Amino acid sequence: MKNKFKKISSIIATKITRSVITKMNAGGGTNLPGRIARKIYPLILTELASQTKKDIIIVTGTNGKTTTAGFISGILSSADNTVAHNKMGANMLPGITCAIIDNASLTGKLNKDYTLLEIDEAYCTKAVDEFTPDLFLVTNLFRDQLDRYGELDTTAKKIREAIEKTAAKKQLKVALNADDPIVSFICKGIDNVDKFFYGFEKIQFLNQETDIAGAKEVAACACGCKLEYQKIFYGHVGHYRCCCGKHRPDTSVVANASIDINHTDLNIFSGQTGEFNVRLNMPGLYNAYNALGAIAVAINLKITKEKIIEGLSNYNTIFGRAETKLINGKTALIQLIKNPIGATEVLRTVREDKNSKLLIIINDDYADGRDVSWLWDANFELLNKYNKQVVASGIRAGDMAVRLKYAGISSENIYIEENIKKAVKHCINNLKDDEKLYILPTYTALLYLQKHYK
Ligand SMILES: [Zn+2]
Repeated sequence: MKNKFKKISSIIATKITRSVITKMNAGGGTNLPGRIARKIYPLILTELASQTKKDIIIVTGTNGKTTTAGFISGILSSADNTVAHNKMGANMLPGITCAIIDNASLTGKLNKDYTLLEIDEAYCTKAVDEFTPDLFLVTNLFRDQLDRYGELDTTAKKIREAIEKTAAKKQLKVALNADDPIVSFICKGIDNVDKFFYGFEKIQFLNQETDIAGAKEVAACACGCKLEYQKIFYGHVGHYRCCCGKHRPDTSVVANASIDINHTDLNIFSGQTGEFNVRLNMPGLYNAYNALGAIAVAINLKITKEKIIEGLSNYNTIFGRAETKLINGKTALIQLIKNPIGATEVLRTVREDKNSKLLIIINDDYADGRDVSWLWDANFELLNKYNKQVVASGIRAGDMAVRLKYAGISSENIYIEENIKKAVKHCINNLKDDEKLYILPTYTALLYLQKHYK
């Protein structure tokens, strides 16, 4: 009885805190309510998640978690499933707790077919202490957050540990990106795991002179040798083999991609579905991988190709509205960026506008979403012929600069100024009268601009 009271109090407290935060317009606001809920009733996440009718699905990896989980959610919904999903992208335990409570009734009933959670790589092991997933999807592993998690091996080990812990409790399905050697070998030798792999055979870029690859980094095998690549798609992702005999695993879902500036056509094949085609209304190789991961999971869950196609085309994101300001007599257009598709759309405009200059401001406060890895899913490659200075600012200016560099923008055209005020001043001072400054801030950076430039 006491526990039931605590459970309901915990749910009510979360819903109230959440609505207050929303009314105050303080942004996403899922962390604090989640913390409160967990304080009042530590078993809240465990009890709610365990009511999932079909499967608990975890999506993890460095890049593409939000988009991939969004695709999976779209497909599951098309196939008439209800889904509890942390779609705000709050992917640490308090945010996840809050998202699940959002989906539950006041009396603590979670009436959903699937629980779908994107989880920060470093939190997977903790998460599986609180609930037992049925399916893991690992998208890719890159060195973009060294400051937080140490070496890439450490991140891979954490994910492996989470898979191992889960497999000790039950038979587990694991979907792995075959083209990423760090991912594809991640659960080698663990019993009780049904692995399945997805990957690309051929990737073609239409109307784009250069591909996405930028800097290539070659992964080393555990045996110490450098992997030999027959194909590199980007970074260390491609078709590889090692002198010790280790090689890219066979895929159960394979695709060809042809990527245009506006969309991506996928030609997919699996034993279960046969061949089929999907057009994504979003560009970029990263998104092609995100979609393929989601498709592989959906096929494994026995969802038909018709529903997969329908689900992918239902995936939409809401764009924020742009506002124009005069700063020292010069024109600035401010457009919030908070997700890959929205950011890609603005970048396209920036590229088409001959009089544009660009300032990108990336913060990572809670209201922004702490995880900035979505920057890798936005198509900054659109700027690789831009040939003008791009200014990166905000708390994560450094990460932004790295992303720009990978997108093929030369170092001398990337200017880093973490201080927002100084960055705006630099841009405005260098802006000609007939030019327009596009400012792309994350949420808290937008609030700062609204406060300081009326
Ligand atoms: Zn080897």
